[in-house]
Amino acid sequence: MDNVVEKIAKITKVLAENPAAKKVLENKFVQEHKYVAAATTFGVGVAAAASIYKVATNEGKRYNYDAIPNLSFDDEEIYDVACIGAGPSGSVLGFYLAREGRKVALLEKKEFPRDKFCGDAVATMAQDILREMGVMKEIVDENLGHFSQNGGFVSPNGNSFIGNSAKELKRDAKYNRGAIIAIKRIHLDEKVAKAAKRMGANLFENTTVENATFDRLTGLWTVECVDSRTTDSENPTKITYKARVLICADGSPSNSARRMGYVNTEPNGICSRAYVKNNTTFRYDGVVFYPPSLLPGYCAIIREARDELNYLAYIIPGGKAKIEDLSKFHHQYMTEDPFISKALGPNPEIERMKAAPLRLGGIKKSYDDHLLIVGDAAGFIDPLTGEGIQYAMEGSRLAAQVLIQAFNERDLSHQSLKRYQNAWMDKFGHEFSMSMTMSLFLYRFPIVLDAAASLIEKRGSRFLAEWAAVMTGMKPKTWFLRPDVGPLIFLEIISECFKRAFGKKKAITN
Ligand SMILES: Cc1cc2nc3c(=O)[nH]c(=O)nc-3n(C[C@H](O)[C@H](O)[C@H](O)COP(=O)(O)OP(=O)(O)OC[C@H]3O[C@@H](n4cnc5c(N)ncnc54)[C@H](O)[C@@H]3O)c2cc1C
Repeated sequence: MDNVVEKIAKITKVLAENPAAKKVLENKFVQEHKYVAAATTFGVGVAAAASIYKVATNEGKRYNYDAIPNLSFDDEEIYDVACIGAGPSGSVLGFYLAREGRKVALLEKKEFPRDKFCGDAVATMAQDILREMGVMKEIVDENLGHFSQNGGFVSPNGNSFIGNSAKELKRDAKYNRGAIIAIKRIHLDEKVAKAAKRMGANLFENTTVENATFDRLTGLWTVECVDSRTTDSENPTKITYKARVLICADGSPSNSARRMGYVNTEPNGICSRAYVKNNTTFRYDGVVFYPPSLLPGYCAIIREARDELNYLAYIIPGGKAKIEDLSKFHHQYMTEDPFISKALGPNPEIERMKAAPLRLGGIKKSYDDHLLIVGDAAGFIDPLTGEGIQYAMEGSRLAAQVLIQAFNERDLSHQSLKRYQNAWMDKFGHEFSMSMTMSLFLYRFPIVLDAAASLIEKRGSRFLAEWAAVMTGMKPKTWFLRPDVGPLIFLEIISECFKRAFGKKKAITN
């Protein structure tokens, strides 16, 4: 009822303020000619109907801060931004906003240090942000990360090439760093959240956000939280925060965005993780295995600091493997896949399988009046590789830039915040579409991976380095279409076909 009254008041205001309508109706000529007056009345009626439609649907509405009564930007009690979740996306956003003097509440249901099931592979865009935050120095000084030096992949039919891509990447000043550093999330996420706090963001741990409601009249969110440590579920300790902008950074289940209707689907992928100790056989830093039954998903073994390994199995949408098959495949490959079982060695100490969902490919709308959705909650995971940390961080850096500009312009309308959607689409969203197409293509034509492995073996580490740069988002996936790449892969596919037709099996290197 309040809503209807509010809308009628707004409609009246819109009509009363319409200067064109006022002027026409007051015109002497219109008043003296009744047919003209009737037609004019009809025209005004149509304009009124359009106004009613606009107000009722909020379509085309630009949220205007100056129209919000009795609010200044300096109110002590009110946060500029309340962020649900202090994972990589939430904390990076908090860091950059706090750096510009914005008052941020980072609301995190867990207490750091906390584990997060992940492959822990941190690619270059994220590495740059970690450097800027001062986190990379801490990680390196405390020996908590391992830069990949050598690696490669094993194709569905067992072609493989392992080389030193880092050495090759270093030739190029632009890539003067490892393509990947493995950092356990128990360390990484704590350091990123603490860096945001040092910069001035208010980090509230053990704080579970249960609900958030937006009041259009005041332009404020009311964010209702409970203390996660409360044992009495009947009578939880409640805390409420007020903020001008709400950020959904609560990971791939996207609970907050789903509650508000911005995301309507379940996560579309899943990945397992198991740390491996006591391995004596695996000599590389990162190898990707493509067992045919898992395509377009894959398994990977990644070397962590202090000689631990991380074994993963990704189920990516588009193939035959279903989310519920994860446990079966994870365990089956460990013992039955000739390459994975060999890599894990004879007596590995393997952690019990852990798993978490993936939301891949980006969502259609990640903004609204006073609202942004970032990181996994917005589906920022590459559909070909399952990587999300760098997109979570880079997306949040872009979100912070857009918000800073929006605050300066005093315009938090969806029209203003749409710049965020455009920015992440330009930076990596279009690549996600390409990745989606490629992963479906590889599922249908796994021979392409077999041919690529053979080609890399022939062309050597430099070519592997280029491949690694594409797969980790340093170079666009259009690399595959280049005249010095696409045709070579095509020729290799023909050569693979011949080998299969005439029974000449390729020697497998490992
Ligand atoms: C098994 C696995 C392996 C992966 N491997 C890699 C990899 O090797 N490299 C890579 O780049 N990416 C990888 N990813 C993806 C990567 O983990 C994510 O992209 C990344 O964690 C996204 O960060 P985020 O901050 O958006 O979400 P998250 O890291 O999920 O953080 C969300 C935070 O929100 C908090 N939260 C949730 N609900 C609430 C609430 N109601 N109130 C308050 N707080 C809340 C959570 O506690 C959490 O801290 C992997 C994912 C999985 C599942």
